[in-house]
Amino acid sequence: AKAGGKNKYLFYSNDMDAAGVERLLLETDLRKALDRNELLFHYQPQVDTNTGTVVGVEALLRWQHPDQGMIPPFKFIPIAEEIGLIGELGSWGLREACRQLVELREEGYALPKIAVNVSALQFNRNFCAQVKAILQETGLPPSALELELTESIMMEDSHSTVKALQEFRGMGLRLSIDDFGTGYSSLSYLSRFPLDELKIDRSFVIDFDKSDNDASLVLAIIAMGRSLKLELVAEGVETHEQFHFLTDNGAEVIQGYLFSRPVTATELRPLLAPGYFL
Ligand code: C2E
Ligand code: CA
Ligand code: CA
Ligand code: CA
Repeated sequence: AKAGGKNKYLFYSNDMDAAGVERLLLETDLRKALDRNELLFHYQPQVDTNTGTVVGVEALLRWQHPDQGMIPPFKFIPIAEEIGLIGELGSWGLREACRQLVELREEGYALPKIAVNVSALQFNRNFCAQVKAILQETGLPPSALELELTESIMMEDSHSTVKALQEFRGMGLRLSIDDFGTGYSSLSYLSRFPLDELKIDRSFVIDFDKSDNDASLVLAIIAMGRSLKLELVAEGVETHEQFHFLTDNGAEVIQGYLFSRPVTATELRPLLAPGYFL
Protein backbone atom coordinates (compact mmCIF):
# COMPACT_ATOMS: atom_id res chain seq x y z
CA ALA A 1 0.00 0.00 0.00
CA LYS A 2 2.91 2.29 0.76
CA ALA A 3 4.41 1.82 -2.71
CA GLY A 4 1.03 2.45 -4.34
CA GLY A 5 0.73 5.56 -2.22
CA LYS A 6 4.04 6.80 -3.55
CA ASN A 7 2.91 6.38 -7.14
CA LYS A 8 -0.21 8.23 -6.29
CA TYR A 9 1.81 11.21 -5.07
CA LEU A 10 3.83 11.22 -8.31
CA PHE A 11 0.69 11.03 -10.35
CA TYR A 12 -1.00 13.78 -8.39
CA SER A 13 2.00 16.08 -8.47
CA ASN A 14 1.46 16.76 -12.16
CA ASP A 15 -2.13 17.75 -12.30
CA MET A 16 -3.47 18.03 -8.80
CA ASP A 17 -5.49 21.15 -8.14
CA ALA A 18 -5.52 23.16 -4.93
CA ALA A 19 -8.41 21.13 -3.53
CA GLY A 20 -6.46 17.95 -4.20
CA VAL A 21 -3.43 19.27 -2.39
CA GLU A 22 -5.52 20.33 0.60
CA ARG A 23 -7.19 16.95 0.72
CA LEU A 24 -3.85 15.14 0.63
CA LEU A 25 -2.52 17.27 3.47
CA LEU A 26 -5.65 16.64 5.53
CA GLU A 27 -5.33 12.92 4.87
CA THR A 28 -1.73 12.92 6.10
CA ASP A 29 -2.62 14.93 9.21
CA LEU A 30 -5.69 12.83 9.95
CA ARG A 31 -3.55 9.71 10.26
CA LYS A 32 -1.74 11.44 13.15
CA ALA A 33 -4.71 13.23 14.70
CA LEU A 34 -5.74 10.45 17.09
CA ASP A 35 -2.24 9.97 18.49
CA ARG A 36 -1.89 13.71 18.91
CA ASN A 37 -5.15 14.01 20.83
CA GLU A 38 -6.61 16.42 18.30
CA LEU A 39 -10.05 14.80 18.15
CA LEU A 40 -12.79 15.73 20.55
CA PHE A 41 -16.54 15.70 20.93
CA HIS A 42 -18.98 18.50 21.22
CA TYR A 43 -22.28 17.53 22.82
CA GLN A 44 -25.69 18.72 21.73
CA PRO A 45 -28.58 18.55 24.22
CA GLN A 46 -31.81 16.73 23.40
CA VAL A 47 -34.51 18.46 25.39
CA ASP A 48 -37.77 17.02 26.66
CA THR A 49 -40.02 19.97 25.94
CA ASN A 50 -42.51 18.98 28.66
CA THR A 51 -39.96 19.28 31.45
CA GLY A 52 -37.27 21.49 29.87
CA THR A 53 -34.74 18.89 30.95
CA VAL A 54 -31.91 17.44 28.88
CA VAL A 55 -32.76 13.75 28.38
CA GLY A 56 -29.81 12.91 26.17
CA VAL A 57 -26.89 14.36 24.27
CA GLU A 58 -25.56 13.57 20.83
CA ALA A 59 -21.77 13.34 20.63
CA LEU A 60 -20.55 15.17 17.53
CA LEU A 61 -16.96 14.76 16.44
CA ARG A 62 -14.59 17.70 15.93
CA TRP A 63 -10.98 17.91 14.83
CA GLN A 64 -8.91 20.60 16.49
CA HIS A 65 -6.30 20.99 13.77
CA PRO A 66 -3.04 22.67 14.90
CA ASP A 67 -3.00 25.18 11.99
CA GLN A 68 -6.50 25.11 10.54
CA GLY A 69 -8.52 25.37 13.71
CA MET A 70 -11.72 23.43 14.30
CA ILE A 71 -12.58 21.19 11.37
CA PRO A 72 -16.20 19.97 11.08
CA PRO A 73 -16.95 16.26 10.59
CA PHE A 74 -18.20 16.52 7.00
CA LYS A 75 -14.67 17.52 6.00
CA PHE A 76 -12.83 14.59 7.55
CA ILE A 77 -15.18 11.68 8.27
CA PRO A 78 -15.54 10.81 4.56
CA ILE A 79 -11.73 10.86 4.34
CA ALA A 80 -11.45 8.60 7.39
CA GLU A 81 -13.91 6.22 5.73
CA GLU A 82 -11.98 6.24 2.48
CA ILE A 83 -8.55 5.62 3.93
CA GLY A 84 -9.67 2.91 6.34
CA LEU A 85 -9.32 4.98 9.48
CA ILE A 86 -12.98 5.04 10.48
CA GLY A 87 -12.78 1.86 12.57
CA GLU A 88 -10.06 3.27 14.78
CA LEU A 89 -11.70 6.66 14.93
CA GLY A 90 -15.07 5.11 15.69
CA SER A 91 -13.87 2.96 18.54
CA TRP A 92 -12.01 5.94 20.00
CA GLY A 93 -15.29 7.88 19.80
CA LEU A 94 -17.35 5.18 21.49
CA ARG A 95 -14.84 4.89 24.32
CA GLU A 96 -14.59 8.67 24.72
CA ALA A 97 -18.38 9.14 24.78
CA CYS A 98 -18.89 6.36 27.35
CA ARG A 99 -16.03 7.70 29.47
CA GLN A 100 -17.49 11.21 29.37
CA LEU A 101 -20.95 10.12 30.51
CA VAL A 102 -19.46 8.02 33.33
CA GLU A 103 -17.50 11.08 34.43
CA LEU A 104 -20.62 13.29 34.40
CA ARG A 105 -22.60 10.71 36.35
CA GLU A 106 -19.83 10.40 38.94
CA GLU A 107 -20.11 14.16 39.40
CA GLY A 108 -23.82 13.69 40.10
CA TYR A 109 -25.41 14.64 36.77
CA ALA A 110 -28.41 12.47 35.98
CA LEU A 111 -28.04 12.45 32.20
CA PRO A 112 -29.98 9.40 30.91
CA LYS A 113 -28.08 8.70 27.70
CA ILE A 114 -25.40 9.61 25.21
CA ALA A 115 -25.87 9.06 21.46
CA VAL A 116 -22.96 8.19 19.21
CA ASN A 117 -23.02 8.22 15.41
CA VAL A 118 -22.02 4.97 13.77
CA SER A 119 -20.63 4.85 10.26
CA ALA A 120 -21.89 2.04 8.05
CA LEU A 121 -18.26 1.03 7.57
CA GLN A 122 -17.79 0.56 11.32
CA PHE A 123 -20.58 -1.93 11.36
CA ASN A 124 -18.54 -5.05 10.79
CA ARG A 125 -18.24 -8.45 12.38
CA ASN A 126 -16.25 -7.27 15.40
CA PHE A 127 -18.44 -4.32 16.16
CA CYS A 128 -20.69 -6.00 18.78
CA ALA A 129 -17.71 -7.39 20.68
CA GLN A 130 -16.00 -4.02 20.52
CA VAL A 131 -18.99 -2.18 21.96
CA LYS A 132 -19.35 -4.79 24.69
CA ALA A 133 -15.68 -4.42 25.64
CA ILE A 134 -15.91 -0.62 25.76
CA LEU A 135 -18.98 -0.73 28.00
CA GLN A 136 -17.24 -3.14 30.33
CA GLU A 137 -14.04 -1.13 30.36
CA THR A 138 -15.76 2.19 31.08
CA GLY A 139 -18.49 0.81 33.35
CA LEU A 140 -21.31 2.60 31.53
CA PRO A 141 -24.63 0.70 31.71
CA PRO A 142 -25.66 -0.37 28.16
CA SER A 143 -29.01 1.39 28.48
CA ALA A 144 -27.15 4.72 28.67
CA LEU A 145 -25.56 4.25 25.25
CA GLU A 146 -27.49 4.92 22.08
CA LEU A 147 -26.18 4.08 18.64
CA GLU A 148 -27.31 6.39 15.85
CA LEU A 149 -27.50 4.30 12.72
CA THR A 150 -28.05 5.60 9.22
CA GLU A 151 -30.22 4.16 6.53
CA SER A 152 -27.15 2.88 4.72
CA ILE A 153 -26.67 0.32 7.50
CA MET A 154 -30.27 -0.79 7.11
CA MET A 155 -29.88 -0.94 3.35
CA GLU A 156 -27.43 -3.78 3.78
CA ASP A 157 -30.61 -5.72 4.43
CA SER A 158 -28.62 -8.75 5.41
CA HIS A 159 -29.70 -11.25 7.98
CA SER A 160 -26.49 -10.48 9.85
CA THR A 161 -27.37 -6.80 10.24
CA VAL A 162 -30.70 -7.65 11.82
CA LYS A 163 -28.94 -10.20 14.03
CA ALA A 164 -26.34 -7.67 15.16
CA LEU A 165 -29.04 -5.14 15.98
CA GLN A 166 -30.95 -7.77 17.93
CA GLU A 167 -27.81 -8.58 19.85
CA PHE A 168 -27.38 -4.90 20.75
CA ARG A 169 -31.01 -4.77 21.80
CA GLY A 170 -30.49 -7.87 23.90
CA MET A 171 -27.57 -6.18 25.63
CA GLY A 172 -29.89 -3.28 26.50
CA LEU A 173 -28.42 -0.66 24.17
CA ARG A 174 -30.65 1.90 22.53
CA LEU A 175 -30.85 2.06 18.75
CA SER A 176 -31.82 5.16 16.84
CA ILE A 177 -32.35 5.64 13.11
CA ASP A 178 -30.74 8.84 11.87
CA ASP A 179 -31.27 10.57 8.53
CA PHE A 180 -34.37 8.49 7.89
CA GLY A 181 -36.11 9.47 4.67
CA THR A 182 -32.98 10.87 3.07
CA GLY A 183 -32.20 7.52 1.44
CA TYR A 184 -34.45 4.90 -0.02
CA SER A 185 -35.69 2.81 2.85
CA SER A 186 -39.38 2.20 3.27
CA LEU A 187 -41.73 1.78 6.19
CA SER A 188 -41.86 -1.99 5.84
CA TYR A 189 -38.11 -1.97 5.75
CA LEU A 190 -37.85 0.05 8.92
CA SER A 191 -40.27 -2.24 10.74
CA ARG A 192 -37.90 -5.17 10.34
CA PHE A 193 -35.26 -3.58 12.55
CA PRO A 194 -35.40 -3.51 16.35
CA LEU A 195 -35.23 0.25 16.89
CA ASP A 196 -36.04 2.49 19.86
CA GLU A 197 -35.95 5.92 18.31
CA LEU A 198 -36.42 7.76 15.05
CA LYS A 199 -34.71 11.09 14.41
CA ILE A 200 -36.56 13.53 12.23
CA ASP A 201 -33.80 14.72 9.96
CA ARG A 202 -32.72 18.32 9.88
CA SER A 203 -33.26 18.48 6.12
CA PHE A 204 -37.03 17.99 6.65
CA VAL A 205 -37.19 20.45 9.52
CA ILE A 206 -35.19 23.23 7.86
CA ASP A 207 -37.88 25.14 6.09
CA PHE A 208 -41.05 23.12 6.25
CA ASP A 209 -42.71 26.22 7.64
CA LYS A 210 -42.17 27.74 4.20
CA SER A 211 -43.29 24.72 2.25
CA ASP A 212 -46.48 22.64 2.52
CA ASN A 213 -44.67 19.70 1.00
CA ASP A 214 -42.10 19.50 3.73
CA ALA A 215 -44.73 19.96 6.42
CA SER A 216 -46.69 16.95 5.24
CA LEU A 217 -43.46 14.99 5.00
CA VAL A 218 -42.67 15.75 8.63
CA LEU A 219 -46.20 14.74 9.62
CA ALA A 220 -45.83 11.49 7.71
CA ILE A 221 -42.55 10.70 9.44
CA ILE A 222 -44.08 11.44 12.85
CA ALA A 223 -47.04 9.17 12.05
CA MET A 224 -44.67 6.45 10.90
CA GLY A 225 -42.58 6.69 14.04
CA ARG A 226 -45.68 6.47 16.18
CA SER A 227 -47.10 3.47 14.38
CA LEU A 228 -43.79 1.69 14.94
CA LYS A 229 -43.84 2.83 18.60
CA LEU A 230 -40.55 4.66 18.23
CA GLU A 231 -39.51 7.59 20.36
CA LEU A 232 -39.15 10.71 18.25
CA VAL A 233 -36.36 13.25 18.32
CA ALA A 234 -36.50 16.23 15.98
CA GLU A 235 -33.11 17.62 15.03
CA GLY A 236 -32.09 20.94 13.53
CA VAL A 237 -34.82 22.95 15.26
CA GLU A 238 -33.89 26.61 15.04
CA THR A 239 -37.11 28.60 15.18
CA HIS A 240 -40.14 28.88 17.44
CA GLU A 241 -42.34 28.09 14.44
CA GLN A 242 -40.58 24.77 13.93
CA PHE A 243 -40.68 24.09 17.66
CA HIS A 244 -44.44 24.64 17.90
CA PHE A 245 -45.25 22.68 14.78
CA LEU A 246 -43.24 19.70 16.00
CA THR A 247 -44.43 19.68 19.60
CA ASP A 248 -48.06 20.31 18.57
CA ASN A 249 -47.81 17.24 16.38
CA GLY A 250 -46.27 14.95 18.93
CA ALA A 251 -42.49 15.27 18.55
CA GLU A 252 -41.66 16.32 22.05
CA VAL A 253 -37.92 15.79 22.24
CA ILE A 254 -36.07 18.52 20.41
CA GLN A 255 -32.43 18.92 19.43
CA GLY A 256 -31.38 22.11 17.73
CA TYR A 257 -29.82 25.54 17.87
CA LEU A 258 -33.06 26.92 19.35
CA PHE A 259 -32.02 25.27 22.62
CA SER A 260 -28.28 24.82 22.19
CA ARG A 261 -25.54 24.34 19.66
CA PRO A 262 -23.20 21.42 20.24
CA VAL A 263 -21.01 22.48 23.19
CA THR A 264 -17.92 21.29 25.03
CA ALA A 265 -18.31 19.03 28.07
CA THR A 266 -17.53 22.00 30.30
CA GLU A 267 -20.20 24.16 28.69
CA LEU A 268 -22.65 21.26 28.86
CA ARG A 269 -22.59 20.82 32.63
CA PRO A 270 -24.77 23.82 33.62
CA LEU A 271 -27.32 22.92 30.91
CA LEU A 272 -27.93 19.57 32.62
CA ALA A 273 -29.71 21.14 35.60
CA PRO A 274 -33.30 19.77 35.70
CA GLY A 275 -35.70 22.16 33.96
CA TYR A 276 -32.88 24.31 32.61
CA PHE A 277 -34.71 24.91 29.30
CA LEU A 278 -38.14 25.60 30.79
P1 C2E B 1 -25.98 14.23 12.00
O1 C2E B 1 -25.76 12.95 12.73
O2 C2E B 1 -27.23 14.36 11.22
O3 C2E B 1 -25.85 15.37 13.11
C1 C2E B 1 -26.62 16.52 13.15
C2 C2E B 1 -25.89 17.71 12.59
O4 C2E B 1 -26.76 18.82 12.58
C3 C2E B 1 -24.67 18.14 13.43
O5 C2E B 1 -23.70 18.66 12.53
C4 C2E B 1 -25.26 19.27 14.27
O6 C2E B 1 -24.30 20.19 14.72
C5 C2E B 1 -26.19 19.90 13.26
N1 C2E B 1 -27.26 20.65 13.91
C6 C2E B 1 -27.95 20.34 15.02
N2 C2E B 1 -28.89 21.25 15.28
C7 C2E B 1 -28.81 22.17 14.29
C8 C2E B 1 -29.55 23.38 14.01
O7 C2E B 1 -30.48 23.78 14.72
N3 C2E B 1 -29.18 24.07 12.90
C9 C2E B 1 -28.16 23.65 12.08
N4 C2E B 1 -27.87 24.40 11.03
N5 C2E B 1 -27.47 22.52 12.33
C10 C2E B 1 -27.79 21.79 13.42
P2 C2E B 1 -22.17 18.29 12.65
O8 C2E B 1 -21.77 18.26 14.09
O9 C2E B 1 -21.43 19.18 11.73
O10 C2E B 1 -22.13 16.80 12.13
C11 C2E B 1 -22.39 16.53 10.77
C12 C2E B 1 -22.49 15.05 10.51
O11 C2E B 1 -21.22 14.42 10.73
C13 C2E B 1 -23.44 14.33 11.45
O12 C2E B 1 -24.74 14.52 11.00
C14 C2E B 1 -22.94 12.91 11.32
O13 C2E B 1 -23.45 12.32 10.16
C15 C2E B 1 -21.45 13.10 11.15
N6 C2E B 1 -20.78 12.86 12.42
C16 C2E B 1 -20.57 13.69 13.47
N7 C2E B 1 -19.89 13.08 14.45
C17 C2E B 1 -19.67 11.81 14.04
C18 C2E B 1 -19.02 10.67 14.60
O14 C2E B 1 -18.51 10.67 15.74
N8 C2E B 1 -18.98 9.54 13.83
C19 C2E B 1 -19.54 9.49 12.59
N9 C2E B 1 -19.45 8.32 11.91
N10 C2E B 1 -20.17 10.52 12.05
C20 C2E B 1 -20.23 11.67 12.74
CA1 CA C 1 -26.68 11.81 14.24
CA1 CA D 1 -29.39 13.69 10.84
CA1 CA E 1 -37.50 22.35 2.31
